[in-house]
Amino acid sequence: MIKDFEYFAPKTVEEALSLLSQYKEEAKIIAGGQSMLVVMRQGILAPEYLIDVKGISALDYINYDEREGLRIGALTIHRAIEKSPVIGNGFSVLAEMENNLATIQTRNWGTIGGNLCHGDPAGDPAPVFIALNAKLKLASKGGERTIDMEEFSKDYLEVALEPDEMLTEIQVPTPPPHTGTAYEKLMVMKGDMGIIGAAVSITLSPKNGVCQGARIVLSNAASIPLRAREAEKRLIGKVVKDDLLIEAGEVASAEADPPSDVHGSVEYRREMVKVFVKRAARKALEKAKAG
Ligand SMILES: Cc1cc2nc3c(=O)[nH]c(=O)nc-3n(C[C@H](O)[C@H](O)[C@H](O)COP(=O)(O)OP(=O)(O)OC[C@H]3O[C@@H](n4cnc5c(N)ncnc54)[C@H](O)[C@@H]3O)c2cc1C
Repeated sequence: MIKDFEYFAPKTVEEALSLLSQYKEEAKIIAGGQSMLVVMRQGILAPEYLIDVKGISALDYINYDEREGLRIGALTIHRAIEKSPVIGNGFSVLAEMENNLATIQTRNWGTIGGNLCHGDPAGDPAPVFIALNAKLKLASKGGERTIDMEEFSKDYLEVALEPDEMLTEIQVPTPPPHTGTAYEKLMVMKGDMGIIGAAVSITLSPKNGVCQGARIVLSNAASIPLRAREAEKRLIGKVVKDDLLIEAGEVASAEADPPSDVHGSVEYRREMVKVFVKRAARKALEKAKAG
């Protein structure tokens, strides 16, 4: 049962930050409620004050310019990212990822900021944003700070937000030329949470096709989205062929520390990491060659 709480529905960021500054640990933000209501119903969270930010229209936007890169307001719904012409142009991995995230109903109400702040290591957007080298803008009454997406996840359902802070924006730099990024996840049915997932970004030298940069990030393979740095090193500085993709998958599998649950044992997940890293890396490579 959900414990009683006092409800606020601010219409501006300033109003929301003022409430957070007043009630701090006793308050929680709710956006689309797709995750928040689940944890409240389970009694994992029982805030005294619930701050409903869904009505803050100023945080619902997707903008792009080449110098600044992509800017997504925290209250943008998943479906808007999936369908945005801005995203489709150069950030196709985000639209592809969103297309496999939950059902259309959930994508039509759940927000990208809520997904990231929930801190579920099985979530799809976080590994993709890490592969894209994204940053998050966090605001409090005292000011703003920016943090690498990679530094944001601290532990299972735990993120680097202070009690008086809220996420306002996701910032994705324009990828270097000849970069491809792909995300592949293992799901029983389309839209399921991933049993494991792999986001891979590869940048090729235009001169000789050598891999200049690689990011490999796993979902549901540790208590946070996991950057497989050793696997990345197997690709950087080389002309990437299938044997290297297989090797990178094997190394990533050894770096993973996956959970065991009804959907898969540790051993099964380790095997699937090999398959999905290879699959995502192959797709990223094709995109990099095309772009
Ligand atoms: C049936 C179903 C299937 C799903 N499948 C998937 C899936 O396949 N892949 C996947 O990745 N996710 C999946 N999800 C999770 C879903 O994507 C998230 O629940 C949703 O995006 C969370 O957004 P929300 O706006 O509903 O956040 P809420 O539930 O309102 O909030 C979630 C958390 O974030 C905090 N929060 C929200 N906004 C902010 C903010 N701006 N600043 C600071 N803190 C904030 C809240 O306090 C809370 O702790 C699924 C959910 C459901 C219900």
